[in-house]
Amino acid sequence: NSTIEISDPAVWEIIQKEGKRQEDQIELIASENYASPAVMAAQGSVLTNKYAEGYPGKRYYGGCEYVDEAETLAKERALKLFCEPVGVEMAVNVQPHSGAQANMSVFFGLLNPGDTVMGMSLAEGGHLSHGMKLNMSGKWFNVVSYGLNDKEEIDYDQVEKLAVENKPKIIIAGASAYSLHIDFKRFSEIAKKVGAYLMVDMAHYAGLIAAGVYPSPFPYADIVTTTTHKTLRGPRGGMIFCRPDLEKQINMAVFPGVQGGPLMHVIAAKAVAFGEALKPEYKEYQQQVIKNAAAMADALTKRGLRIVSGRTESHVMLVDLRSKNITGKEAETVLHKVGITVNKNSIPNDPQKPFVTSGIRLGSPAMTTRGFKENEAVEVANLIADVLDAPKNEQVLANVKERVASLVARFPVYLETV
Ligand code: PLP
Repeated sequence: NSTIEISDPAVWEIIQKEGKRQEDQIELIASENYASPAVMAAQGSVLTNKYAEGYPGKRYYGGCEYVDEAETLAKERALKLFCEPVGVEMAVNVQPHSGAQANMSVFFGLLNPGDTVMGMSLAEGGHLSHGMKLNMSGKWFNVVSYGLNDKEEIDYDQVEKLAVENKPKIIIAGASAYSLHIDFKRFSEIAKKVGAYLMVDMAHYAGLIAAGVYPSPFPYADIVTTTTHKTLRGPRGGMIFCRPDLEKQINMAVFPGVQGGPLMHVIAAKAVAFGEALKPEYKEYQQQVIKNAAAMADALTKRGLRIVSGRTESHVMLVDLRSKNITGKEAETVLHKVGITVNKNSIPNDPQKPFVTSGIRLGSPAMTTRGFKENEAVEVANLIADVLDAPKNEQVLANVKERVASLVARFPVYLETV
């Protein structure tokens, strides 16, 4: 790293500033985490130099003997992490560069343009790659979206009704802002009834699933896609599991269908992250992620804020801000001022536009990685509530900022900047 300092001080300075930001702020963005120094070192390794189009043993380039080992190890560990514990046989592709590209590859492999796909609506917690109109998924396919019932739980009866009416080829289960358990069994019954593939996008919940603290979709899904950088705590990237009989189609869809050369340094980092996730302390970490989210939701509720769906059963929650007369956009900005990073997020039936919103999304994975337990989670919730109660009171903001500084100083993320 010191070579960047010498060879390119401008970039070095940006990295230092970002490192300091990550240390100094309480990170509550539910899709973010702090990867280990080992994961980051693998990503910054010589493997970045290698072209390896194709798959282990069948490459279009010479000199792939060692990257083959890295990819094979990543695949073996991924299956050991997710499939072995539930006794399910699946194939895995660790090459997708991101979650969106994993999803795009599945569509490319199993669908033709114009086919019908069902996914959760973006406005009610889904992801844009599940059929949003500006995304490839929404432009090329006939998308039927489902949402929440009046208890703000996934409306499984609506899913069934829409599936029967529309006969989709793929039903996607998975979300970016849904705090409850997803009933994968019910989804698979619906998919079977209409002859659709069940594709679970577990991106948000993957780390929890690996640790057995969130229901596993593997006994029920035909395809499971994920990112590797959220709760799972690996490098930025994607991955696809599929039924063994779909492996050829999925592999062809990733390469040469959607991608060119795989990012072998990232694949090596995925292997490192899966190795970490197979260790006993990872389970403890994920259990703490759940406990911290529950403690935070409880404390926010006591301070007069409403949690969408009433509670969280995972790492994530949506907070309805309307009782405090503040928008998501304003809350995001004022919390940033005191050193708490969150993202604005639409709530179900949000009266505000998506760029303004009436909610914020909070997640516990990153703060748990830095060592926060329930006491700190409750303190963070109270700091948030203090700010939302008096967003224009400079004295309150200054006090909160000081308490944030003392919390982060007690729990450093990295011992030295990487
Ligand atoms: N799927 C879900 C459920 C997500 O929440 C996200 C990212 O937020 C993605 C897919 C896309 O992942 P990426 O940003 O790596 O493309």
